[in-house]
Amino acid sequence: MKLFFYGADQCVTGSCHCLEVNGRRILIDCGLQQGRDEIDNAELPFAANAVDFVLVTHAHIDHSGRLPLLVKRGFQGRILTTRATAELMDIMLQDSANIQESDAEWKSRKARRSGEPLTEPLYTVEDAMRVQSFVSACEYGETVELFPGVQVRFEDAGHLLGSAFVIVDAEENGEKRRLLFSGDIGNVDQPIIRDPGTVPGADFVVMESTYGDRNHEEVKDYTEDLADVIDGTLGRGGNVVIPAFAVGRTQELLYFIRDIKARGLVRSVPDFPVYIDSPLAQRATGIFAGDLRGYLDDEALDLVKDGVEMFRFPDLRMAVTSEESKALNADGVPKVIISASGMCDAGRIRHHLKHNLWRSESTVVFVGFQAEGTLGRRLLDGVESVKLFGEEIAVHAKIVNFNGLSSHADRDHLLSWIQAVQDPVPRHVFVVHGDREVSQFFAKTLCDLGLDAHAPQYTACYDLLEERELEVGYLPVRKRRDGDGKRASSAYERLSALGQMLVEFIKRSRGRDNKTLARFADQLRQMLDRWEDM
Ligand SMILES: [Zn+2]
Repeated sequence: MKLFFYGADQCVTGSCHCLEVNGRRILIDCGLQQGRDEIDNAELPFAANAVDFVLVTHAHIDHSGRLPLLVKRGFQGRILTTRATAELMDIMLQDSANIQESDAEWKSRKARRSGEPLTEPLYTVEDAMRVQSFVSACEYGETVELFPGVQVRFEDAGHLLGSAFVIVDAEENGEKRRLLFSGDIGNVDQPIIRDPGTVPGADFVVMESTYGDRNHEEVKDYTEDLADVIDGTLGRGGNVVIPAFAVGRTQELLYFIRDIKARGLVRSVPDFPVYIDSPLAQRATGIFAGDLRGYLDDEALDLVKDGVEMFRFPDLRMAVTSEESKALNADGVPKVIISASGMCDAGRIRHHLKHNLWRSESTVVFVGFQAEGTLGRRLLDGVESVKLFGEEIAVHAKIVNFNGLSSHADRDHLLSWIQAVQDPVPRHVFVVHGDREVSQFFAKTLCDLGLDAHAPQYTACYDLLEERELEVGYLPVRKRRDGDGKRASSAYERLSALGQMLVEFIKRSRGRDNKTLARFADQLRQMLDRWEDM
């Protein structure tokens, strides 16, 4: 019984772990690496057709975004997740595929002009749509047998609609082990969804550590603060522009704005229009408004029981086509515009920023974490002007930060989560899904509390019956970006990362039959000779 670490190892994206029991392979998440690109998303460190099952903790792309690639590469197994995750994942993977396709098209257009080879998208919308045919949805608390000796169960992680931590009971050679995979652990008191559920005991835990080194600021009255900003801005004749992640955060905003309208908190323009300018957000809102018994918190359920539609109120409009989107900035009517992407690095939000940043009467409201290097972060840092669509735009609008509402548990909540794992207390905790320094720091915090813990490296392998590390793996080279945002020598770094993967693969091949090993060695020799000659 072995556990392999194939992603989110000492970094925050690309979650992927693999459990091998009785020769069968179960992936827990298959996420896309985002942002830094330390690992090439096209290089799966395992054969897609050797994977029997995938258990998906939640729909965020950094946990599910490589499923279409897995399917494209010949995966023939089953994907298990909760019903709500299955629905959200469907639209999010198609959206991700759209981005992959247009990225590749843009690169290919450039390549054609310079005579370089064309770029193939990582996967297409068609690949993304095929994922659904492999999915079996289940409900929280339901025990599912994958094959004799392995049972799994999903419990509410309180992070995103449908999010779960996964409990795997596995038996090999008459020995039983229970594993707990945290997925992303939710924050308490988020609107709409429930708080994280209680955790059972487990022999081994794989847990996230995103906020392993800090606690959240206290949230004041979110509804009233937001109402004040809207009231002031619309009263001045400006627009309120809110960059927001299309799934989850946009629905929370609608939930708050419905309440603001119902309580009449905006006096300057009581019937102010609200536009959701993101096709993905619109589709996601449809899912959030569907049959979600078993997924909502008590307050949301009470609203539903009272016949209140949580995400619907007068003057809510959806802009769908890009023409409708552009028209929003032409009519001069003060309004609230919610659009993606949440960190302003892509998407329609950039048009709205172009038309509102220079207006001192408008306000840009940030409601989520803004990573370093993003346009959102630069605006929060107070830049005086930004370049959008080749034009220099002065920043005169008010910039407001509502960062108190996080979907991730903070340090104290992560600690109480793991300390609730009793009977048995974990023999070992593998700390993943945190920045390099943070995951190491959090692992040390757990050790100081008397737990056995460490932050594994990429491609590490651990024998769960013998309780020892078989492979230590490696830390991918961090890519630096030069001033223009171009990646320095990325081809060389990719080659070097592949070289390290090759070494790890050779180590794992020890024990295979001599004939196979000799053939592999011959092929490597030939390839080296060929390249030495070039
Ligand atoms: Zn997440």
